[in-house]
Amino acid sequence: MFIDTHCHLTDEYDGGVDAIIKHAHDNNVGALICATAEGVDIKPAIKISETHNNIFITAGIHPDYIDLNPYDFLTDDVLNNPHVVGVGEIGLDYHYNPQTRNKQIDLFEKQLDIAHKHKLPVAIHTREAEEDTANILTDKYNGVMHCFTSSWDLAKIMLDRGFYFSASGILTFKNSESVRETFSKIPIDRIVIETDSPYCAPVPYRGKTCEPAMVIETAKVLAQIKNLQIDELETILFENTKQLYPKINLL
Ligand SMILES: [Zn+2]
Repeated sequence: MFIDTHCHLTDEYDGGVDAIIKHAHDNNVGALICATAEGVDIKPAIKISETHNNIFITAGIHPDYIDLNPYDFLTDDVLNNPHVVGVGEIGLDYHYNPQTRNKQIDLFEKQLDIAHKHKLPVAIHTREAEEDTANILTDKYNGVMHCFTSSWDLAKIMLDRGFYFSASGILTFKNSESVRETFSKIPIDRIVIETDSPYCAPVPYRGKTCEPAMVIETAKVLAQIKNLQIDELETILFENTKQLYPKINLL
């Protein structure tokens, strides 16, 4: 099976979350890791994971929500839940909000500390913040650079620190030559795939609402880049995901 390692399950989907999960499972996307971002989305995500097979959670606060206190949301109770396999998405985003840099760094460092104490991997969001990301994300931590579109320079640094890299639907976009180039250089045992749904639908679904079943399209392009058969890639990505998120317990 394929695993969508980073999606956002929202009720905005036609037919609701149940239909989205069934559609994924029917298309050999047998497990989903649901990322949280807003604090208040953590409890509902855990509820979904407890009432469906093979749904897991990364719990974290995205840099858009700098006014939240992570200790209110990333409690021992949440992080000890067997379905919560990591902390994320967390990180830095200076594209829309460069003026909140200091608060973003504070929120990021607090959540890294929480993850470290709980020995959980982190799912990192980084956009136009490469220098700070590289300075803060030392090899004390482990995890994945989610929806990775940053430079090869940052990739090299984070490879040395043992991080994984997640390819999203952006890998399939016509104008993403540089992203494909970067993924051609990242060793295959450090790659996982995701949709980041409901955003970033891959080719040939661009303009539609993205859903986890579409992760197959990213897998197809990655297989071409790495010169692998799709079923070979499926096995490798499955093992990589289990290495990245050791708490995953698939049915
Ligand atoms: Zn996301």
